[in-house]
Amino acid sequence: VPEVAQRILKTLDRPFDVAGREVFLGASIGISMYPQDGHDVTALMKYADVAMFQAKKDGGNRHQFYLADMTVAANQRLALETDIRRSLESDDFIVHYQPQVSLENDCIVGVEALARWQHPQHGMLPPNMFIPVAEESGLIEALGDWVMHAACKQAREWQETTGILIPVAVNLSGHQISDRLVQSVGNILEKTGLEPRYLELEITESCIMSHTDETIDCLQRLRRLGVKMAIDDFGTGYSSMSQLKRLPIDKLKIDRSFVRDVPQDSNDMEIIKAIIALGHALDMTIIAEGVETAEQRIFLARHGCDVMQGYLFSRPEPAAKIEALLLSESCPVSYTHLRAHET
Ligand code: C2E
Ligand code: MG
Ligand code: MG
Repeated sequence: VPEVAQRILKTLDRPFDVAGREVFLGASIGISMYPQDGHDVTALMKYADVAMFQAKKDGGNRHQFYLADMTVAANQRLALETDIRRSLESDDFIVHYQPQVSLENDCIVGVEALARWQHPQHGMLPPNMFIPVAEESGLIEALGDWVMHAACKQAREWQETTGILIPVAVNLSGHQISDRLVQSVGNILEKTGLEPRYLELEITESCIMSHTDETIDCLQRLRRLGVKMAIDDFGTGYSSMSQLKRLPIDKLKIDRSFVRDVPQDSNDMEIIKAIIALGHALDMTIIAEGVETAEQRIFLARHGCDVMQGYLFSRPEPAAKIEALLLSESCPVSYTHLRAHET
């Protein structure tokens, strides 16, 4: 059976000629065996399907035999998917916000919206427990819209109750980048009354570098709406310099893995300096993620990093707590450039 599977994959591996253009196909093969995996066609097909999804998940272009614990995983995933659907309707998701702080003057210059799931049985779940499932099951568009709407509405409310014009950053999954996204960002901004320049969209480097022409077109249209664009987790993907120059990007966020070992790891420190220089040469603002210690902060400030985000200043917190922080006098914030009446 594996031999046949490999032969099929090999046959499909050759480019096809479609109207003079070379088209590449990939294939993933799931295999279930009679009688050990099942006794009828329905069961065997179901398990082959489960195995095929595993083959895809492992990178595709391979074959995979069905294993019993795949069903356990598949059932868990299905249960989660059902729960996500239900929670989207009953508002069990919430958004926490983490301040982004200027390294020049200690002002809060923005907040990042981070999704949380208040699961009815499992309690508060972090995004890595549900974003991947939402992505695989096609629920990410609905969830992403929900988060963006919540964040824009919150930013608008802060403008009204505190007079502070604080930009909000929202994470995007690669699966969301489509024509539909441009439409729904426009709708959300209109519905919440938030000016586009107070919304920033974060896209991970790995996602942006595996883009197609449509992705770039979509990002450009978003930017034309007036929203800002940031590359998240920068340094972990494979950016090509020529592409970086062409992309409609305002900010680079240095990945936490580089910041973590400052000041012990001199390689990481050199990489950070290089990213700062690169970003500034391309006229981008540089944010360092995961700043936890005073030493890290000092290092980043000394080398011209613009903004920091991390536990040193604040963890992601519920909106009410962030509002108190924005209004508190102990918070070293001077909003002269952010106050509503001055813009
Ligand atoms: P991210 O966008 O890179 O967000 C930063 C993550 O680092 C957050 O984790 C934050 O809590 C954590 N963090 C911030 N400061 C520190 C620090 O000083 N030390 C340490 N150890 N961690 C810090 P979180 O909230 O668990 O989010 C994880 C990832 O999930 C995010 O990474 C983002 O990629 C994704 N995510 C979160 N919300 C959404 C969403 O609404 N949509 C999508 N598509 N992805 C989301
Ligand atoms: Mg982010
Ligand atoms: Mg990040």
